[in-house]
Amino acid sequence: MNDQTSILIIYTGGTIGMIRDMDSGALAPFNFEGIYDQIPLLKKYHYRLDFHCFDPLLDSSNVNPAFWVELASIIESNYEKYDGFVVLHGSDTMAYSASALSFMLENLNKPVIFTGSQLPLGEIRTDGRENFLTAIEIAAAQEDETPIVPEVCIYFENQLLRGNRTVKYNAEFFHAFVSGNYPTLADVGVYIKYNKNSILKPNFKRLKVHKELETGVGIIKLYPGISTAFLNTALQSERLKAMIIETFGSGNAPTDLGFLDVLRNAVSDGLLVINVSQCMTGSVDQGKYQTSMELERIGVISGKDTTTESAITKLMYLFGRYHDVDKVRTLMQRSIRGEVTE
Ligand code: ASP
Repeated sequence: MNDQTSILIIYTGGTIGMIRDMDSGALAPFNFEGIYDQIPLLKKYHYRLDFHCFDPLLDSSNVNPAFWVELASIIESNYEKYDGFVVLHGSDTMAYSASALSFMLENLNKPVIFTGSQLPLGEIRTDGRENFLTAIEIAAAQEDETPIVPEVCIYFENQLLRGNRTVKYNAEFFHAFVSGNYPTLADVGVYIKYNKNSILKPNFKRLKVHKELETGVGIIKLYPGISTAFLNTALQSERLKAMIIETFGSGNAPTDLGFLDVLRNAVSDGLLVINVSQCMTGSVDQGKYQTSMELERIGVISGKDTTTESAITKLMYLFGRYHDVDKVRTLMQRSIRGEVTE
């Protein structure tokens, strides 16, 4: 590794950047200028580490598309100056942000590694220190002067995961994220073992950053007893362009005629309806059961093995970029950043 390797650390907020106030005992964000006191080991890196802090810092529950545009713009304006990027972010919506950024950053040829922690950096048993230090190392890793991981990832608790394949599934344990339908990109122990066959290859094209995001999209989770009237009202929402329906198992839904009529009418009125499973592993397979056959006939689009986080941010990106619904329909069924198995 050459000494010139430079990493930009973008601190957006979240638990990782908190310390306990000695007087009040409450958790509050700490000033990143003091980061070398918090983690003296950082000085051992020969990389150049620079910091960009968001103001205000965000609990990630407050993340929104405007935040993603700001984050993408920071990466864009620093893209040529750095070899890699580490994004410190609250874990709650990290999978949404990593998915959104994966779509917004077309032709990404450098690592953008999201990480955070379940316990603040200032706590003795924090998971943040290891997550942070290893994320830097992964962002800096090169082979033949080419980044090993030129994609948007989440690094958490010894696993490097593709951002748009990841879901936060645990609010308590350090192992907080899962990528149920795609292998880990690296497993970390004594060594960082990269799973090179699963990592996207660089295309060496010029980075294009897409900043238009359409928010006229939604998600409905099915549950036994869901009312047709409720579904109908949701599907009639103003400015709605697409609705994700989180279905049961391999993409199954009630066969109740009223329910199906509401969906049929919405689709024939031009709404894109995407079928994403409530399960974290496995794929939608429309037509496997009678309970999904009709969805296929109506023209509901199979989300296959995509995550909800990926599907919703992909819809925002595609409708922000294209006005042609057929184009969006086609691209929703294809992998554009490795987010779905074709
Ligand atoms: N509420 C925090 C956040 O997402 C939790 C965390 O950082 O893990 O910002």
